Amino acid sequence: MKIDLHTHSTASDGLYSPAELLRQAQAAGLSLLALTDHDTTNGLEAALAAGETHHLEVIPGIEVNTDIAGAEVHVLGYFLEYKQPAFQQTLQTLRDMRVTRTQRMVAKLQGLGLKITWERVRELAAGAVGRPHIAAALVEQGYADSIADAFNRYIGRNGPGYVARYKLAPLDAIGLIQSVHGLPVLAHPAGLSDLENLLGSLTQAGLTGMEVYYGDYEPKTVKYLRKLADTYHLIPTGGSDFHGPGIHPTPLGARQVPEESVERLRSLAAERRQMRAPAFELPSYQA
Ligand code: AMP
Ligand code: ZN
Ligand code: FE
Ligand code: FE
Repeated sequence: MKIDLHTHSTASDGLYSPAELLRQAQAAGLSLLALTDHDTTNGLEAALAAGETHHLEVIPGIEVNTDIAGAEVHVLGYFLEYKQPAFQQTLQTLRDMRVTRTQRMVAKLQGLGLKITWERVRELAAGAVGRPHIAAALVEQGYADSIADAFNRYIGRNGPGYVARYKLAPLDAIGLIQSVHGLPVLAHPAGLSDLENLLGSLTQAGLTGMEVYYGDYEPKTVKYLRKLADTYHLIPTGGSDFHGPGIHPTPLGARQVPEESVERLRSLAAERRQMRAPAFELPSYQA
C-alpha cells in the first residue's frame, strides 16, 4: 500500500490543483494521501472529491508554519474537523498575516531596486501566499535562476529581502490543531538543533507524531529519528513534501510510510473524537 502523508497544492505553494494532485497520486499508484497545505484547508474539499473519483483515501491535513529562535518549526495536523468556524477564522488571520509579511518583503526588495510587484506575486498565488510565490516572481524577472536560487540570494533567513514571520510558536500550532480534534505531528525535524529538548516540550503539549520517513532523508537520519520517535512515544510518519517541480526534489509517493503508522494515527484520531476538544485562541501578540 503506497502512502504519502505530506503534500501541497495550489491552495498554498504547490504547483498543482488538488484535483490534478489526486490524478497524479493515482497514476503513481498511491492508495492514501494527506493534503497538508500551509495555513489553509481550502484545498481539502476538492481533494476529498477527487479522492472519491480515483478511489484513493484522502486524510484532511494542514501544515502550520511557526518559528523558534533562529529556526522554522513546521507542525502538521491530521484528521482535522476542519470545517469548524473558529478554526477557519484563525486560519484566515494567519493568511492575512502572510499577506502583510509578503508585502513587506516585496517592498524591501523594491527598496533594493528590484522590479517586482505585489500584484504579480498575488497573481502567482492561487491561495495562501508565501515566499515561494515571491521567488517565482524573482525568477520571472530574471533576478534568480530558480526558486532555490531566489531563496539563496534574496529571501532565505539571512537574505536581504527577508522579513520575519508573524509570531506563532510551535505550541500555538499544536493547540490550534488539537482544537479541531487533529493530531499534531512535527514536520522535517532533522535540521533542528537541540531536537531532544524541543521534543520534550512539544510532547508534553500533546505532539503525537514526528516525521521520520521524509523527503530525501538518508538511512542513517531515518534510523536516528526512528529511535527518537520511539523514545518519545511519537508515531513515526513521513512523506514526500511534494509541491511539483522546483520546490522539493522528492516525487509524489516516493517516500514509503509504514502502514502501521497510519493505523496508529487512525485509532488515536478516533479516540480523540470521543473527547472534548480544547478551545484555542491566537495569543494576543498576534495583534
Ligand atoms: P513561507 O511560509 O512563506 O515562509 O515559505 C516557506 C516555504 O517555502 C516552505 O514551507 C517551503 O515550501 C518553501 N521553501 C523554503 N525554503 C526553500 C528553498 N530553499 N527552496 C525552495 N523552497 C523553499
Ligand atoms: Zn511549501
Ligand atoms: Fe514544511
Ligand atoms: Fe510541506
